[in-house]
Amino acid sequence: MPDKWEVVIGMEVHVQPRTRTKMFCGCAVGHIGDPPNSNVCEICTGMPGVLPVINKAAVEACLKTALALDCEIPRHTKFDRKNYMYPDLPKGYQISQYDLPMSINGHLELNGRSVRIRRVHLEEDTGKLIHAGDKLHKAWESFVDLNRAGVPLMEIVSEPDLRSADEARDYAVALRTLLRTIGASEADMEKGQLRAEPNISVRRYGSDDLGVKTELKNINSFRALHRAIDFEVKRQVEVLEGGGVVVQETRGWSEAEQRTFSQRSKEFAEDYRYFPEPDLPPLELDRAWIEELRGMLPELPESRRARLLSQYALPERDADLIAAERELADLFEGAVNAGAEAKPVANWIIGEVAPSGKVPPAEHLADIVKLVTTGAITRDQGREVLAESLSNGQSPSEIVQKRGFAQVSDESSVREVVEAVIAGNPRAVEDYRAGKKQALGALMADLKKRAPSANPKLASDLLVKLLS
Ligand SMILES: [Zn+2]
Repeated sequence: MPDKWEVVIGMEVHVQPRTRTKMFCGCAVGHIGDPPNSNVCEICTGMPGVLPVINKAAVEACLKTALALDCEIPRHTKFDRKNYMYPDLPKGYQISQYDLPMSINGHLELNGRSVRIRRVHLEEDTGKLIHAGDKLHKAWESFVDLNRAGVPLMEIVSEPDLRSADEARDYAVALRTLLRTIGASEADMEKGQLRAEPNISVRRYGSDDLGVKTELKNINSFRALHRAIDFEVKRQVEVLEGGGVVVQETRGWSEAEQRTFSQRSKEFAEDYRYFPEPDLPPLELDRAWIEELRGMLPELPESRRARLLSQYALPERDADLIAAERELADLFEGAVNAGAEAKPVANWIIGEVAPSGKVPPAEHLADIVKLVTTGAITRDQGREVLAESLSNGQSPSEIVQKRGFAQVSDESSVREVVEAVIAGNPRAVEDYRAGKKQALGALMADLKKRAPSANPKLASDLLVKLLS
């Protein structure tokens, strides 16, 4: 893209907080694959005459998220009705928060930069339509599944502080890490627990005005988020450079076609006629409770990253990757506390554990790293031990024993082989003694051929000792 265009992105992220029940009733939040309409009641199906009740766990998750984002928590907050008609919304309105959200004015630290958070508020999800039909006979049926209706959602809204598709993706990843770290949400995009809606515009560098933005709806993977923004930026620049104007509208992302498409233009935007929810009391948030929640927050990812750098002297890249997942960071510190060296542990986590998608107990990883760094087993054997340990939960020492992986570390038997190597390679021995240190490589190669299971560290130490 030509350098004269600056990209401006703000993000709305919808996150399902970790609760057992829905936002305003006792129904289970349920799981993907539950039979349709199996987690519903008269409240979440919008029967007349029922009264919603606020889910305290959802409020707590929202407040913890707000505190972790360093937001202000106003004393008063309330819920509002957002009115619109759609078949997946039986009440004819969604309960959300309009002018008095639960929190405002926070920020998220991202790669040393601060992204401002405008607000974090609570609302409820809608149901889902399922369309089935027979195209040939033009016979269509639509079904509605209200299992999702009333599931709590936190909406996290950023200011337009992001400047590229990379940054937008990093922001969403950082948010997921934060939410998982504080236990506010599992934030699993594949399960629809975290959905991103970026709004995107471009402007000429040096301009302070914002360009006309488009909003992308319901992006449900980090990859799609990156690609959709990339596409949208290129599209807008093309429109502007071709002398056209960008239309303010909502657009969708087609995974199949790898392009965005127009869904709804702003001229048809609805007036939601927000008004205070009459069936719920305004909330007066108890300051002592908020301070208690603040005190319960664990170490946040940004601070942990800084500590991985300073306390364990990890390179920045390692610290970034490990601090990005609380489980990996816990594993790292656990394995180091169990006596393994920091840098090798980091290498094993990044190279082997993270790609496997499974996390071993810290003691197991510490054992494997120690076995490899002391030369008791080879690196390849270590990989096999890790894979087996991850699949059956056995301890590394059990696996090493069972598979006969232990290297020959008995000094007298290794010494025998080393002596045979010295006797069998007079030329290389002569070179080495004459100062050509690289001759050691040829000797070690011969040693490996003669005794593949000999502990290489012990063998090379012995070799050097007997040669000098
Ligand atoms: Zn219900």
